[in-house]
Amino acid sequence: MSYTALYRKFRPQIFEDVKGQDAVVATLRNQLKAQRIGHAYLFCGTRGTGKTSVAKIFAKAVNCEHPVDGSPCGECPTCKAIADGSSMNVIEIDAASNNGVENIRQIKEEVAYRPTEGKYKVYIIDEVHMLSNGAFNALLKTLEEPPAYVIFILATTEAHMIPLTILSRCQRYDFHRIPIDVICDRLNDLMEKENIEVEEKAIRYIAKSADGALRDALSLLDQCIAFHLGQKLTYDMVLEVLGAVDTDVFTKLFDQILEKNIVGAISTLEELVIRGRELGQFVNDFTWYLRNIMLLKSAAGMEEILDISSDNVEKMKEEAQKVETEEIMRYIRIFSELSNQIKYSTQKRILIEIAIIKLCKPQMEQNNDAIINRIIALEKKLENGVVVSQDNNPRQSIMQSQGAEQHEQMPQQNLINKLPAAVTDDLKKIVNEWAAVKSACGGITKSYLGKATVTIGNNNELMLVLDDKNAYEYLSTNKANCLDELKTQIADRIGKDVEVVVKHNTKNVAAADAYVDITKLINFDITEENI
Ligand SMILES: [Zn+2]
Repeated sequence: MSYTALYRKFRPQIFEDVKGQDAVVATLRNQLKAQRIGHAYLFCGTRGTGKTSVAKIFAKAVNCEHPVDGSPCGECPTCKAIADGSSMNVIEIDAASNNGVENIRQIKEEVAYRPTEGKYKVYIIDEVHMLSNGAFNALLKTLEEPPAYVIFILATTEAHMIPLTILSRCQRYDFHRIPIDVICDRLNDLMEKENIEVEEKAIRYIAKSADGALRDALSLLDQCIAFHLGQKLTYDMVLEVLGAVDTDVFTKLFDQILEKNIVGAISTLEELVIRGRELGQFVNDFTWYLRNIMLLKSAAGMEEILDISSDNVEKMKEEAQKVETEEIMRYIRIFSELSNQIKYSTQKRILIEIAIIKLCKPQMEQNNDAIINRIIALEKKLENGVVVSQDNNPRQSIMQSQGAEQHEQMPQQNLINKLPAAVTDDLKKIVNEWAAVKSACGGITKSYLGKATVTIGNNNELMLVLDDKNAYEYLSTNKANCLDELKTQIADRIGKDVEVVVKHNTKNVAAADAYVDITKLINFDITEENI
């Protein structure tokens, strides 16, 4: 017995069967009932939302011998011929593979002949945005003055790629992503008809994965059923087949990231790889998990709109308590960037590992939210009032470190580790000498240097960020050799040439807020006078 894919078997045949596109369907039916049929339609929307199905129903409806309330009867010879694809009145063209001028010319020639039976010839051009410029121009002429018995239905996922001249000649209909609940209902319906038992949780997971495309949902369901033919389809089976990951694993990974436990997080990833999970899917799902935690954190009552089971909600609320909003937003940003990169990459695992390390180490990034994360980490340490030294010395407070005997209590080596960024020895020395360097430069240079936020550039060089445009221009163009003077002063003190970058702050916030000023972070006053 041959097997028909669900989405073919249950392709809607009448308007009533079309799910989730009520506005489009209602408008088209009204036109049909009033006999005010246009000759050019443009159906826009994401894949799998019913554009072609609606186009075919429309083609049937205009040709049907006994239409019922704007819908085709499905019984007359014309309806049947269109349904089984034998009708000469409906011509489907895939513009992705027929995108040249020649293909459109051929249509123009055919259009000259009246339909031998039925009232209308309907041309459905799918993926119409793929047409070449020449083909669009050729089509334009036909669209301008088509014979009365011709209807064009152009379908596209990329409406912005359609020339304005074409757009202006079509009635446009937007097909929206179908809500999860509507997809669930449809899937449950079909499973009942097919006599297949399915767990509600399994259906919801498939509906969510389909991301608003009913056709994708049916294909996914098909895959799962084929794998476990004749059995009740459970949530676990669906996860297995789709290569998806259970929420428990996400919770474990999330905890490891919060604890900055890179080794643990990487080995959790390793487990997923060994279990054969699809990594692209994993990245998407984990991004959703993070997004749900963010929503649970941002307002009470969010669980109503989240698509998660009640036991998971409790678990995720606990997780939400552990993280700052800024931190989770940074996680989401990194993971959504990752999901774009990973699509075409053959090194998915490495990219995910890099992302995990980035999550655990905000100091690896130079942008605003990473710096905010670093500040949060610092603030937490300050709140605790303690800095733990590497060699298990007793805890020492930062307040103490500013005291008189700090040299003995806080060896240089330990202080470096407490900095949020990897500050090199040389930069640290410069920070210690910064006041002296500024004074030695003197004059305008001194006062402009005073306006700079001193921070670390991408390559660990010394970076001076200035809000003041004059100061920036003066320093960056090395006016009166001021930059050379600065470098000489630094070199005299630390015995090395140092790279200095001058940057104009073009952000909406002041440089002092946008960048971490290393001269203000921690007092490094530990260089001995006699060195
Ligand atoms: Zn009919």
